[in-house]
Amino acid sequence: SAVFLKYPTEFPVIGEHIEVQTKELNVELKDKDVLLRNLYFSLDPYMRGRMRNAKSYVPGFQIGEPMSGYGIAEVKESKNDAYPVGTIVSGFTGWQEYSVVPGASGLRVLHGARESPIPLSAHLGVLGMPGMTAYSSLKIIGQPKAGETIFVSAAAGAVGQLVGQMAKKLGLRVVGSAGSDDKVDYLINELKFDAAFNYKKNGTILENLKRAAPEGIDIYYENVGGETLEAALEVMKNHGRVIACGMISQYNTQQPYGIRNLHHVVSKRITIRGFIVSDFAEECSADFAKDVGSWLVNKEIIYREDVAEGIDASPEAFIGMLQGKNFGKAVVKIADL
Ligand code: NDP
Repeated sequence: SAVFLKYPTEFPVIGEHIEVQTKELNVELKDKDVLLRNLYFSLDPYMRGRMRNAKSYVPGFQIGEPMSGYGIAEVKESKNDAYPVGTIVSGFTGWQEYSVVPGASGLRVLHGARESPIPLSAHLGVLGMPGMTAYSSLKIIGQPKAGETIFVSAAAGAVGQLVGQMAKKLGLRVVGSAGSDDKVDYLINELKFDAAFNYKKNGTILENLKRAAPEGIDIYYENVGGETLEAALEVMKNHGRVIACGMISQYNTQQPYGIRNLHHVVSKRITIRGFIVSDFAEECSADFAKDVGSWLVNKEIIYREDVAEGIDASPEAFIGMLQGKNFGKAVVKIADL
């Protein structure tokens, strides 16, 4: 298991805050319990928020206990008729090779997963929580219209790469920012963004954004916060919308960034709206599964994953994702099906 050791104040450190330990699992199943053989688990920025000793929308990690999150697994032993041995499930699992899920709580059966051409790990990315995040918030908060310009930050990541492609399908001009030249190449050449820049190079973020979006932007898909948000407010057109999805530049620091130009919100009549993906589950789940499922099968959207192999690699992959070393959706592969 990858075990949580201590609350970090900045970037977590292996051995101090997270550590892989060998633990014996108590596999005495009670009625309705299942034992899972974990195949994949997801590494997500929100997990950094679970490393705080504070109340949030997801319960924090427990010190001395395995980290947890969305995963894909095979039922290995079962005392629950709804989840027979061999069933492939997705749900909240541990950063563990095996985990017991009391009452099979929250597990969803992935019907036909063994035969499907869609890789299992896609259920953690494009067809999972990040995909739903992109799809629902772009539609509901962004209110995108053909001909408008959208700027997406962390654009080569799990959520960003999907937002950009979905916006292109709707006829928007799409501008992205990312933290390396390879990521920028991917945005332009593979995802067909209209413009993209490396926010670490060629002047300030504002200068880069002005070059990429000389006419201004109508929608800002906010993944990073800080200086990027400030630049987006500066170039935002009247009646612009900010889809406040995340602010990852603020997750590993004790010194919050003070946005200096919030006054634009008034004069430009900007709407800034935050959300948590579960807010839109009822309204969007069915359309999401239908639309994104068919776009994927028809290769109308593509995606990139960054796969770390084995539980031992998980702490480094997690910290690397927070630092931008991932290229695409960060997942850990634990075992083959
Ligand atoms: P990504 O796959 O995009 O990985 C995180 C990326 O953030 C890194 O690869 C890195 O890319 C970028 N990053 C890290 N530090 C900084 C920094 N200081 N400045 C700018 N960019 C930085 O993760 P996700 O797609 O899963 O998540 C993207 C955002 O969406 C996060 O803010 C997350 O919290 C949020 N989110 C919110 C949800 C909600 O319900 N509201 C649900 C899911 C995600 P780069 O190389 O470009 O720097």
